[in-house]
Amino acid sequence: MLSYEDALNMILRTISPLPAEDVLLAEALGRALADDVTAGWDMPPADNSAMDGFALAADDIALQGELKIAGLSRAGAGFAGKVPPGEAVKIMTGAPLPAGCDTVVPLEDVVEEGGRVGVQKPVRKGDHVRYRGEEFQKGEVLLQPGCNLRAGEIGLLAAAGVAQVSVYRRPRVALLTTGDELVDLGVCPGPGQIVNSNLYLLSARLQEEGCTVLPLAIAADRSGDLRELLVLGLEADLLITTGGVSMGDYDLVKGTLESLGLRLGFWKVAIKPGKPVLFGTVEKTPVFGLPGNPAAAAATFQLFVRPALRRLAGFRDIHAPRCRATLTTTVRGGGSRQMFLWGRLSEEDGHYRFTPSNRQGSGQTRGMQQAQALLSVPIGSPDLTAGQEVEVMLIYLP
Ligand code: AMP
Ligand code: MG
Repeated sequence: MLSYEDALNMILRTISPLPAEDVLLAEALGRALADDVTAGWDMPPADNSAMDGFALAADDIALQGELKIAGLSRAGAGFAGKVPPGEAVKIMTGAPLPAGCDTVVPLEDVVEEGGRVGVQKPVRKGDHVRYRGEEFQKGEVLLQPGCNLRAGEIGLLAAAGVAQVSVYRRPRVALLTTGDELVDLGVCPGPGQIVNSNLYLLSARLQEEGCTVLPLAIAADRSGDLRELLVLGLEADLLITTGGVSMGDYDLVKGTLESLGLRLGFWKVAIKPGKPVLFGTVEKTPVFGLPGNPAAAAATFQLFVRPALRRLAGFRDIHAPRCRATLTTTVRGGGSRQMFLWGRLSEEDGHYRFTPSNRQGSGQTRGMQQAQALLSVPIGSPDLTAGQEVEVMLIYLP
């Protein structure tokens, strides 16, 4: 059976980023940049003060100890002209450094009296001056394609005068849940029925990943019904189905996709949970057939769909971040499939501790509740013992 690593590589070879579009900077949060962005000007645009204080020439004050106050430079309205030798200018944070000055002495370090300013402490030339272009210079590449635009990046681009950016399109993801036993939330389940919780789980997870979700109606376990909804779902940038992808008599997803021209990438991967997962394309649209069991659907989303979405959305960092943690309980190894365990991370003395959930069953929805990470237990691995250091895949930052 295919390994997780080979399956993931196949996905990443198949999928490429969606087209780019121009958006206003204010709408770019969480998107991946599609082009280099260069600074439109120097930042700061002029030498200016980092403190409220007095601008002066360091050599002057060293000689005289006290200077005449020539005027004021404030943010938005600088001191006009050159400051004569032996004089100083009162200056506010962010105000342009007047010509003739090279240093700012903070208000805390001066005595101001009768139109003169005396300095209490030794002064070093250049103190508290922010120089033109010291942060970035006109034409400098500030951010590169694939960069995730978070608040810090957005602030930087605004400071550089970038009002519009080219970003990759947000993936539109169709979500098709299958199963005769499923009822919509709000409908009281009859005998043998359960609520379609996968729809809510995956839709939430997709939104957390910045995708636009296109929920489809529940497909009954009949080819005709399934086919109609699959055709609708294939209009999206990516289609996810859940359920109906194992070996049962009513598992019709694979066959129905094949009748629509599926190019199968893989079906079944040597992992637990999530073995029956399917991946392929129908024309250009990537399709994931996730197992119906909630924890298996959630795990395969994390292991396969998330990297695919990151690639589609144009991000440079596709793989889940990892961190090291101390295992708090012993975990049995030796399986014939790579195991992924949900767990919680807690912090102690600057170290993370990973506690596997005691509900790992693929049918459970509680195993992943509050989980922040997945622990991989490789095929044939010896037992992992309590106290051992392990590497976990992060879902949420703890
Ligand atoms: P299947 O993969 O279709 O054989 O489903 C496996 C298990 O997952 C069964 O117990 C289903 O009832 C359950 N299941 C399938 N789809 C969903 C869903 N959308 N929400 C919650 N449970 C589901
Ligand atoms: Mg089913």
